Amino acid sequence: LIRIDRVTKSFGPEPVLRDVSLHVERGDIFGIVGQSGAGKSTLLRTINLLETPDSGSVTVAGRDLTRLSKRDLRAARQNIGMIFQHYNLLQNLTVFDNVAFGLRLHGMLNPPRLRRRVLECLELVGLSARADDYPARLSGGQKQRVAIARALASQPEVLLCDEPTSALDAGTTRALLDTLRAVNADLGVTIVIVSHELPALGALCNRVTVLENGVVAETFAPADTTAPRITALGRELAFYGT
Ligand code: ATP
Ligand code: MG
Repeated sequence: LIRIDRVTKSFGPEPVLRDVSLHVERGDIFGIVGQSGAGKSTLLRTINLLETPDSGSVTVAGRDLTRLSKRDLRAARQNIGMIFQHYNLLQNLTVFDNVAFGLRLHGMLNPPRLRRRVLECLELVGLSARADDYPARLSGGQKQRVAIARALASQPEVLLCDEPTSALDAGTTRALLDTLRAVNADLGVTIVIVSHELPALGALCNRVTVLENGVVAETFAPADTTAPRITALGRELAFYGT
């Protein structure tokens, strides 16, 4: 479903991503781990072309995003939802309006269908009752659920998650990861997740890539505990494989 082919990206003299290739199959929960500054967020952001690669290609659902016009890229991005560490909700909009925001921006649905879609998405994350609240009145875990509902509103095939639980406590983290697992299992959404929560990732992901200094050091299935591991992070993850 996602194919990154020989992507290189620099902001300054040193490349942040060097010749990175990876592919994510439909239905995967794909993890990206690595030290701070390894290039994880940059790599994740190239998947919807929030970062434009200097060279290489990014193919999602059969289309090379690096070759699309601005207009076609905007349409292709409807197929790729994203959530962030700090939720990025609009504070002056209600929960309902946050989830509806992208749909309205793109004029995608008439009002009754839009309303139904938004409520379905909120139902999915267990927050239908909070539709009229403002984000400030929600807990961190609830805010991240609203962000998930918003990301799913355009019915994307792909959900990108950049450290979605790093602002949450342990119990809330587990519950949120269960929600992501359900989004994957019940809706068939392919998930790419950057996280430092190694135990959780080992149990959640069917494949994980370790990024070191902008280079893919290894990619493996955590469940395959017999495969050799090259990196320290890889060995640590093997320990948590299920
Ligand atoms: P963390 O775990 O701390 O989130 P990361 O692996 O996500 O780290 P990135 O955010 O991808 O790392 O950043 C990789 C490198 O690229 C860092 O050295 C960072 O300073 C640099 N970088 C990222 N975005 C930009 C930008 N827009 N302009 C300049 N440099 C950038
Ligand atoms: Mg990051």
